[in-house]
Amino acid sequence: MRSRHIAVVGGGPGGLTLARVLHRHGHPVTVLERDPAPDARPPGGTLDLQEGLGQRALDKAGLLPEFRSLSRPEGQAMRILDTDGTVLRDWRPRPEDRANPEIDRGHLRDLLLGPCGGHPLDVRWGRKVTRVVPGTRDGVVVHFADGRQGTYDLVVGADGAWSRVRAAVSPVTPHYTGVTFVETSLDDIDTRHPGLARLVGDGSLAVYGVNRALVAQRNSGGHIKVYAQFRAPLDWQASVDRSDIDAVRSDLLALFDGWSGPALDLLRHGTAFLHRPLYVLPVSHTWTHVPGVTLLGDAAHLMPPLGAGANLAMLEGAELAESITTASGPGELDEAVRAFEERMWARAGRWATITTAGLERLVGPDPAEAVALFDEVQQS
Ligand SMILES: Cc1cc2nc3c(=O)[nH]c(=O)nc-3n(C[C@H](O)[C@H](O)[C@H](O)COP(=O)(O)OP(=O)(O)OC[C@H]3O[C@@H](n4cnc5c(N)ncnc54)[C@H](O)[C@@H]3O)c2cc1C
Repeated sequence: MRSRHIAVVGGGPGGLTLARVLHRHGHPVTVLERDPAPDARPPGGTLDLQEGLGQRALDKAGLLPEFRSLSRPEGQAMRILDTDGTVLRDWRPRPEDRANPEIDRGHLRDLLLGPCGGHPLDVRWGRKVTRVVPGTRDGVVVHFADGRQGTYDLVVGADGAWSRVRAAVSPVTPHYTGVTFVETSLDDIDTRHPGLARLVGDGSLAVYGVNRALVAQRNSGGHIKVYAQFRAPLDWQASVDRSDIDAVRSDLLALFDGWSGPALDLLRHGTAFLHRPLYVLPVSHTWTHVPGVTLLGDAAHLMPPLGAGANLAMLEGAELAESITTASGPGELDEAVRAFEERMWARAGRWATITTAGLERLVGPDPAEAVALFDEVQQS
């Protein structure tokens, strides 16, 4: 049987893992990515990859040893403070603990894009997909922003929250959770702000207040990402000039009025502020199977960012790749995709339920609930 022509739309963790595992099995695949180059924009913060999810996917991709040398097990450390600076929890992993090590997104991307069996992955940069039309005589037609088109046997939408592939299978779009993150960062923290460096430690720092939280995470190279998290209408700060960093900062600090600990210095020293309202798809989002098109990762099941999204996207990518490579006869590819979707929906539905409930507790009216959630996760 001829190899099916497979296109993966989106070169994020899910799409690259799918392509990497297919490539490892000698199956041709093309990744269509809108960014013009791998380093066209900052790669984002750090990801914790769980043993049974993201790490399992990397194992299927043959990349677990490299992940172990690049990741930061000490990054699993977690310190929780009260809004007055009192330390409520100060948890550190044992040296051999590899349950959820952290890895910079940029390092993970480079790992997935790295050499594989002598020739690189076929990633077409600068290919922004606008629309996907299944069911044509020749296969599934992909339309690009520059007016070009391509035709494939299977198109996998791994193009994230605002997927352009999703519309080919489902009319559903993401909705706002009521929680907004404002992200800022600090560089060279150990040299420039040693006190804050000690406060954050090797992993994460979290402070929980009423309907507000402040979370800081150490990335590699002395870089810290900080997330101010709060409940607010979508048009929060509509009247503030977002290019005026000092105006954004003072408006943000006003939200945390009454907090007295040193953690707010993380906002005072932040260099730029990125507004990230949290959107989600409905819990248990499914669709009627459409031959030739499927979704994975955030495109299929966007959920609150509580440590599951990239993990699920990667495992789905690895599992779909394995199913594709074992499908041989006519019709078997479609059956493999159907079976993959059923499995993805069941697992993602469970995680969407967990993370939705988690967000209510982490950015909610009772800060004690956030600490209780941390304790429950530790004991599970
Ligand atoms: C603050 C924060 C912290 C998080 N921490 C964690 C964590 O610790 N662990 C975890 O598991 N998850 C975490 N997540 C969630 C995680 O980031 C996502 O779930 C994950 O990135 C989803 O991967 P993906 O491959 O499905 O999509 P994405 O990572 O969104 O990748 C989509 C790719 O598609 C490309 N693309 C988009 N549109 C098009 C188009 N039209 N044409 C072509 N290409 C396109 C994009 O450029 C991108 O490269 C966090 C999220 C946030 C916001």
